[in-house]
Amino acid sequence: MIFYSTTDPNYKVSFIDAFRMGLSPDKGLFIPSHIPVLPSSFWNDLVSKDATEIAFSLLSPYMIDEIDKNSCLSIIEKTYAFPFPVVALDETISCLELFHGPTLAFKDVGARFMSELHQHIYQNDVNTTVLVATSGDTGGAVAQSFVGVAGVDVVILFPKGKVSAIQELQLTTLGKNIKAIAVEGDFDLCQAMVKRAFLDTSLVNLQLSSANSINVARWMPQMVYYAFVYKMLAKRKKPLVVSVPSGNFGNIAAGLLASAMGLPIAKWMAATNINDTIPRFLNTGIWKEQKTLPTLSNAMDVSVPSNFVRIQKLQEFWGAKSVFSSQSCTDFDTLHAIRELYENYHYIADPHGAVGYHVLKHFLQENKDYQGVFVETAHPIKFPETVENALNIKLEYPENVKVLLSKTAVYDTISTYEELVEILRR
Ligand SMILES: *Cc1c(COP(=O)(O)O)cnc(C)c1O
Repeated sequence: MIFYSTTDPNYKVSFIDAFRMGLSPDKGLFIPSHIPVLPSSFWNDLVSKDATEIAFSLLSPYMIDEIDKNSCLSIIEKTYAFPFPVVALDETISCLELFHGPTLAFKDVGARFMSELHQHIYQNDVNTTVLVATSGDTGGAVAQSFVGVAGVDVVILFPKGKVSAIQELQLTTLGKNIKAIAVEGDFDLCQAMVKRAFLDTSLVNLQLSSANSINVARWMPQMVYYAFVYKMLAKRKKPLVVSVPSGNFGNIAAGLLASAMGLPIAKWMAATNINDTIPRFLNTGIWKEQKTLPTLSNAMDVSVPSNFVRIQKLQEFWGAKSVFSSQSCTDFDTLHAIRELYENYHYIADPHGAVGYHVLKHFLQENKDYQGVFVETAHPIKFPETVENALNIKLEYPENVKVLLSKTAVYDTISTYEELVEILRR
């Protein structure tokens, strides 16, 4: 499949090159030049298909001209190798739990797919450096997916003091080929440094590759679990609305890609915290970036969401503007949502899932003809202080988290791009 750049439709590359490059030279993101639409018979018959078949049908059109069928299947099998439960809270609200992977967050899906694809393409005999900025969960997922992979060095930038303790330990304790760097600043600064490094000709010999959701290999595999939801809720009577807690808007942009391929989700809602550039833009038509503010849902503390341009392109190309909307949620409402979920349904949500629930609930109160799903993007144990304080309970720590908590974090600290370059050149 040919992919083109969102900033220059004439800049065209193959899927593998889009993966290798991450961004186009003019800082555009890659999107597919053609989106195949799967017939309604495919969607109506999802119940008869397993996870690998579903994922293959959705992803192979983009890869199959460059990657043979068996390799595609092998990459897919290793990616969707953990459960994706849909928990019904009541008749109208369900939760899609995406935290059953090794680092307890949905980013395991994209990170695993990317690592498998990387190994398939480079066959471990080309030395590459994976450079990635994290607002919390990407770093751990990427580190876990690439640890010990021959020929790959992984460098992770995280905003110092702005990720949770477990998130920090997940990316700073693996050692081996994984290097963590704390940046004195916010996630947007980390992301800006990464983008700059990719365009820095003095670093070409490092064979830098990205692992952020700007990369097609992180972004696209995320569309698949929305087909799983549709399959799980096949018996429902009302059209589906899905609320996705959003920061860089990669996860929801993947959902919209699935919709463009025919997945019958009636409405998508991007739920943000008070870093609300997109909901404000959609309400007022004015694009105004504000300083990123720290919140309880720290993985969404992003004020310049990279993937929004993909959503705009998908809409342009696909027409149906009304199916996408975005609403924000304060920390006060997030805490309220955590308590309400526990009191009403005995469900323990993390702060990100709670943002998704809050936005969904408001929509459903005014639109009774829908059935709703909110996405639980991380395990509540990744944010124990917030959840325990809100609910006045003690959370149980899974065994792998206990092991993690006994380890010591190792990282460098930087504040400028020049310091990053110095570390990369070492
Ligand atoms: C990354 C992340 C998000 C935001 O996802 P985007 O694809 O960047 O919108 C939401 N919740 C959690 C827990 C995350 O780690």
